[in-house]
Amino acid sequence: MTFREGLATVVQRADYAPPAYLIETVDLTFDLDPAKTRVLNRMQVRRNPDAPAQALRLDGEDLNLARVLVNGAGTSFKLEGNQLVLENLPQGHEPFELEIFTTCAPARNTQLMGLYVSNDSFFTQCEAEGFRRITYFLDRPDVMASYTVTLRADAAKYPVLLSNGNLVDSGPLSGPGNEGRHFAKWVDPHKKPCYLFALVAGLLVQREQRIVSRSGTEHLLQVYVRPGDLDKTEHAMNSLMASVAWDEARFGLPLDLERFMIVATSDFNMGAMENKGLNIFNTKYVLANPATATDTDFANIESVVGHEYFHNWTGNRITCRDWFQLSLKEGLTVFRDQEFSMDMAGSPSARAVKRIEDVRVLRTAQFPEDAGPMAHPVRPDSYVEINNFYTVTIYEKGAEVVRMMQTLAATPAEGTSGRDGFARGMKLYFQRHDGQAVTCDDFAQAIADANPHSDLARLLPQFKRWYSQAGTPRVQASGQYDAAAQTYTLTLTQSCPATPGQPSKEPFVIPVSAALLGAHGEELAPARTLVLTQATESFVFEGIASEPTPSLLRGFSAPVLLQMDLTDAQWLLLLAHDTDPFNRWEAGQRLNGSVSWASSSSHCPAGRGLPQRHAQRAAAPGAGRGVQGTGAHAAGRNLHRGTVAGGGPAAHPRGARGHAPATGASPSRRLAGRLRGPQRHRRLHARPRLQRPPCAGQHGVAHAVPGLRAKR
Ligand SMILES: [Zn+2]
Repeated sequence: MTFREGLATVVQRADYAPPAYLIETVDLTFDLDPAKTRVLNRMQVRRNPDAPAQALRLDGEDLNLARVLVNGAGTSFKLEGNQLVLENLPQGHEPFELEIFTTCAPARNTQLMGLYVSNDSFFTQCEAEGFRRITYFLDRPDVMASYTVTLRADAAKYPVLLSNGNLVDSGPLSGPGNEGRHFAKWVDPHKKPCYLFALVAGLLVQREQRIVSRSGTEHLLQVYVRPGDLDKTEHAMNSLMASVAWDEARFGLPLDLERFMIVATSDFNMGAMENKGLNIFNTKYVLANPATATDTDFANIESVVGHEYFHNWTGNRITCRDWFQLSLKEGLTVFRDQEFSMDMAGSPSARAVKRIEDVRVLRTAQFPEDAGPMAHPVRPDSYVEINNFYTVTIYEKGAEVVRMMQTLAATPAEGTSGRDGFARGMKLYFQRHDGQAVTCDDFAQAIADANPHSDLARLLPQFKRWYSQAGTPRVQASGQYDAAAQTYTLTLTQSCPATPGQPSKEPFVIPVSAALLGAHGEELAPARTLVLTQATESFVFEGIASEPTPSLLRGFSAPVLLQMDLTDAQWLLLLAHDTDPFNRWEAGQRLNGSVSWASSSSHCPAGRGLPQRHAQRAAAPGAGRGVQGTGAHAAGRNLHRGTVAGGGPAAHPRGARGHAPATGASPSRRLAGRLRGPQRHRRLHARPRLQRPPCAGQHGVAHAVPGLRAKR
């Protein structure tokens, strides 16, 4: 799939075909040795009745093949590039046993993909395509199998032997050559794709916790580290317990294994990896020394432990049909870890701090990516090297797409949050697809179908442009107050710049959470979600007794650049009185001049080209104080909408009042520093896609960027 004989192969999403064979069970036996590990792979394989008859082609890399047996007998095979090709297989659709014996050299595996040795211990990393470095296999996420794994190794050097699922047997090995050796046998009760396989063997110690779920089931939680680090694992364990409880309470998703393990290692390409029941973490996201760890360190650990745990359902129980659907699991799971952190934070202002952090990451990392040569849709159409697609677009923008789906799943009776509707959608998603490998379309359809009267259901085909169109949309807002008619007309205009391969864009579905404030900060019109679907649309608020100040894009309800011309006095009003804490913060950003309305069309992630500060804020303190209105009349407001003909940027009715060129492409370093200090660096580390060299050439998305490989 990557580079064969010097030629890059472009993989196209449109070329997807179901696998020609299905692997039902996998029975793996490892004799672990750093120099030469022997891997015996016994599989039950059958032809896929939905695919045309053809040869079986198994992926393999850096393997020494010793033996291939079909139903216990030798068979003919050939090696073509990195594939083992079997043509003379039993006819019909009955399963047959395929046995493959290979060896590999974990100590020489410096790619850290597949099976490798770190600090005298064995670890694995298989996402996205590392399992083929362990054994020959159909290394694609839509082949889901039941795994039994037996690990055999020297008992003194490798006292701990771990794999996915539940431990069913263990003990010393007997017989000649097995002196001092032992084994452990693991059975994973859930089918999984091979990228979720994991094993760990080494000298490790563990912190343990027994918990009882809401349904009364008992589980064992374990955090494994090197000896000496045990005193730094309490917070990771607490975070894991909180994650288990949260997913059950918020989404009704319980822990589905007898035990759940986290293992920390210092040699790890990724932030962390959600292998079924055996998450492997970079030590950075497990260990916290209570004497020296900062609030940021604690928050990082909680967030990453939560993220990987939540994959147990969103990613593992339902996985991706192909790697183009990566945001199916990552966007959704980032959204879930964001919600988890917010729920853990508790108070509205603490929740808002978390939301601000997430929006800052989006603005400082994803918006530049979306405006640069590497811009790509949340669901790409092609790739050369999938490891380069663990990007801030797939993760963070993908999470914003899920968040918008939640907002748009709201029904009038349930308020504006959409939380109930989204939970219904998740329930339907699992009813339909548990145990399957599916697409982003399947997910969106489930959320919409569970809420048939929602805006999401009504607008689904157009909404899905968020998956297919790259680039950060601009939304320009302008308001006009008619004192005689007591109406306020808000006109929203959207556009989206060209991105590589996409010269023009169709309008997005953009939920704009909006409220109107009176001169004394009172709400003239309560928060509601305006759904922008056209290039330009006007929304008329009726019964507005005095000239209002709009509070738009509350909670950052869509990943867009909002341009809105308000006076300093109006920003001050929002800063003082907006009941939406995110917009209070945003008003401060606009006011202190550190947020610019940059075009952001040529940003570069390295900081070169980050939006410049606009200093031309006309500090006319009195300007805008003339916002009219005395009474707070909150009643009788009706909203109707109409589409204004014509597109293009709307005129600014207030353009002449000296004030800031509004809106936020970049956060204020100063204020952010006050909020959380080095917090922003956490994501930069936690989201390894930022390891991408800045502006890595004018290659477009289909080219590999060497050295970029990381995920969480
Ligand atoms: Zn993830």
